[in-house]
Amino acid sequence: MRSAKIRLYVEHPLGEGQTVPLTRDQAHYLFGVMRLSVGDALLLFDGVSGEFLAEVSQADRRGGTLICRTQVRPVQSPPDLWLLFAPIKKARTDFIVEKATELGAARILPVQTDHTNADRIRRDRLQAHAVEAAEQCGGTVVPDVADLVRLEAVLAQWPADRHLMFCDETLAGPSSSVAEVFAKGTPGAILIGPEGGFSPAERTRLAAMPQARAVSLGPRILRADTAAVAALTLWQAALGDWHSAGGDHPLAAATEDLT
Ligand code: SAH
Repeated sequence: MRSAKIRLYVEHPLGEGQTVPLTRDQAHYLFGVMRLSVGDALLLFDGVSGEFLAEVSQADRRGGTLICRTQVRPVQSPPDLWLLFAPIKKARTDFIVEKATELGAARILPVQTDHTNADRIRRDRLQAHAVEAAEQCGGTVVPDVADLVRLEAVLAQWPADRHLMFCDETLAGPSSSVAEVFAKGTPGAILIGPEGGFSPAERTRLAAMPQARAVSLGPRILRADTAAVAALTLWQAALGDWHSAGGDHPLAAATEDLT
């Protein structure tokens, strides 16, 4: 087997010795675009089983089969963090989905707010962007991209235990640390508004939710796509998976061995 450079997400259960049939699009990509042939290696993940080294066992332009060899990484789920954002122009919305995937959002929920211009999204296209971003960034899980729904509908069903980091442009100014506002280890969500910001009715609704806290993203007004990246970064650094827990640290294990 030649060394594996390609990572591919497949909607098929993976396991050692498992054969994986390819869709027409996957076969076109692997054999037509990337020029792989029988015997070549690649990496596969299915979102639940981790990452596997696999080999092409049969190839043609319209289909083919892969065989899973060994698991090379266990699945690594991102923290339970949702990103709610109001869709903006197409390229910027694509950017938000791509960056949210890279930054480890578990679920992406486009929401229609009072000042959102978009009244529909291409969910399948956005989901494909999330798949591509996960393939490229080494993720073993692909965040689910939900259909566009009204913000008030999402808030009406909001889980009691999920905190909501409401990024409020009217608070632009010095910000308190996310770690002081929310408890680590609880399910969380981030809400980013559209270019037009939030309406008074939405502010009133959010202010009445015990799970929601309005936060500032610093002294300047950011574009929605920048705000999404900044908020995800703050959340991950304070509450997410950027720092391993003490026990997972290699030195912690080494210290245990010494005692
Ligand atoms: N038109 C609005 C700005 C909207 S910016 C105005 O001029 O006030 C788009 C979204 O990004 C906002 O709804 C908010 O969720 C987020 N955002 C941008 N800058 C922010 C900041 N400094 N603090 C908190 N949220 C911010």
